[in-house]
Amino acid sequence: MATTPAHPQSGRWIDFDRYPRVRLSHLPTPIEPLERLSAHLGGPRLFIKRDDCTGLATGGNKARKLEFLVGEALKQNADMLVTQGAVQSNHVRQTAAAACRFGLKSHALLERRVPNVAAAYEETGNVLLDKMFGATLEFRPSGLDMNAEAQSVTERLRDEGHRPYFIPGGGSNAIGALGYAACAQEIVQQCHESGLFFQWLVTPTGSTGTHAGLIAGLHAVGVELPVMGVSVRQKKERQVGAVLALAQATATLLEATPVSSSRTLVEDAYVGEGYGIPAASTLEAITLTARTEGILLDPVYTGKGMAGLIGLVRQGFFRPTDNVLFLHTGGSTALFAYEDAVAERSIKLRKAS
Ligand SMILES: *Cc1c(COP(=O)(O)O)cnc(C)c1O
Repeated sequence: MATTPAHPQSGRWIDFDRYPRVRLSHLPTPIEPLERLSAHLGGPRLFIKRDDCTGLATGGNKARKLEFLVGEALKQNADMLVTQGAVQSNHVRQTAAAACRFGLKSHALLERRVPNVAAAYEETGNVLLDKMFGATLEFRPSGLDMNAEAQSVTERLRDEGHRPYFIPGGGSNAIGALGYAACAQEIVQQCHESGLFFQWLVTPTGSTGTHAGLIAGLHAVGVELPVMGVSVRQKKERQVGAVLALAQATATLLEATPVSSSRTLVEDAYVGEGYGIPAASTLEAITLTARTEGILLDPVYTGKGMAGLIGLVRQGFFRPTDNVLFLHTGGSTALFAYEDAVAERSIKLRKAS
């Protein structure tokens, strides 16, 4: 890392078990080299943090956030988790699974945010698993304030006699972001154990809890590692503001000093036409990562995140000697809801080779 990193034995080390928390994830997730992808791109040495392997219901980043959110829900004696997301939300799937694990009910609002979807989009992938975990679902048209919708549904459920706990979309509030502050500390610890240090961390950034938690956690333990967020849904200006606001709230919860705005780095050139619509670069990244590394990405988040990483390598953003860590946040369950787009791309590549 660029400057002297905090050490596990230092006074800045955070005991995350001081917050209400349950165990839901297989931790620490491995850090692995992407040797064949690095060689293919001819750039810096790329590594991957396997948060697709957190274990909860096919894994992904929401498991870490839910450790703290469910911890808080249980502390408040809730008997139901209420949340919201896009139809193919990985967050809704993992929340439904976490609810099962603790004998809670779960209810979710699904926003029809993505236009022109395939017929199977509302049945397969994450939706199939939501139903398997017994979540009750309500659909909404696109464009509403979904957190406000879900909060009013939470009040309705309370009036009906349930004890609901509201979790915002993506689990992205300061409590959920603690999961990624803890992940940041886990990465720093893995660096100390392996002697392998990174100059950059790259992550997809959507509802911001992952990006903001990483920034707040690194800041709180005094590590300068820069985190580049590849936006999956909106322009840089808006994403930077949202990430910084949540990073500040998380730093406050960590009892750390305020985070410098220079820490919020966002690349927005890989969003394509919008949230949940894979661009050509998304599909290229998915196929290239599959064929060089045998690793599954997803069409909504990690495909765009990896497209951003590949694009930055190609434009010479990193130094050839850099070690760059990509956070794999999961999501491959959604591949099946995007079968048409994914299959078309794979067939084109096969014909070309
Ligand atoms: C939710 C999600 C993200 C984005 O994380 P945020 O904390 O919402 O920014 C990235 N990848 C996958 C697979 C996700 O499900």
